[in-house]
Amino acid sequence: MSVMASLQKPCVLVVEDESAQREILTYNLEAEGFQVVQAENGDEAMLLVEEEQPDLILLDWMLPNISGLEVCRRIKADPGKRRIPVIMLSARSEEVDRVRGLETGADDYMVKPYSVVELMARLRTQLRRTRPATMGERLSYADIILDSAEHRVFRAGQALHLGPTEFRLLSTLMEKPGRVWTREQLLDRVWGRDVYVDSRTIDVHVGRLRKALMVNGGDNPVRTVRGTGYALG
Ligand code: CA
Repeated sequence: MSVMASLQKPCVLVVEDESAQREILTYNLEAEGFQVVQAENGDEAMLLVEEEQPDLILLDWMLPNISGLEVCRRIKADPGKRRIPVIMLSARSEEVDRVRGLETGADDYMVKPYSVVELMARLRTQLRRTRPATMGERLSYADIILDSAEHRVFRAGQALHLGPTEFRLLSTLMEKPGRVWTREQLLDRVWGRDVYVDSRTIDVHVGRLRKALMVNGGDNPVRTVRGTGYALG
């Protein structure tokens, strides 16, 4: 399997005011290959959610100013952000807290001190649901199958040959069939946030992807959304 074919690893936002805990989490997440952004408080967290569009949020309950609970409530009340999984971390284990945590829309909840191994397992469970192509899952759309662990793509049972960029592009599109992606969003996902690529480059690679998908016939599954970008189906 080629490193070049790997999708951008999911980005995890760690929100924790205690620097030692924040560093431990960051160290473990980076060791697992995740990208990490850190926030020390709720205000910073809200800003980073907007700017970085993380794939998952590890959110400490007890934070100065805006509490983790309130941060979670705001994220889950925002239609543009509510799909981001939130795992709440809390020092308080009372049942009532657990219920309140889940009532705010948190996707999971762990009580300190928690096992890092268990936390990573729960984090992967959330990401398998929201970012399956980055977690070695098999995706399918119509007659197309993408095996992200084996880095293989099949259409109508026949293996296709895709370049690494086309593979990442298809993985992104197949994670959310029907979603309209802007060129900028696709560039972030496929090339990475810190890489400068001309947005016309994306059109070239979409063209190559279509050609590869249609090599043995079949419809063009990648729709151009005029003035916006692209969508699968
Ligand atoms: Ca804290």
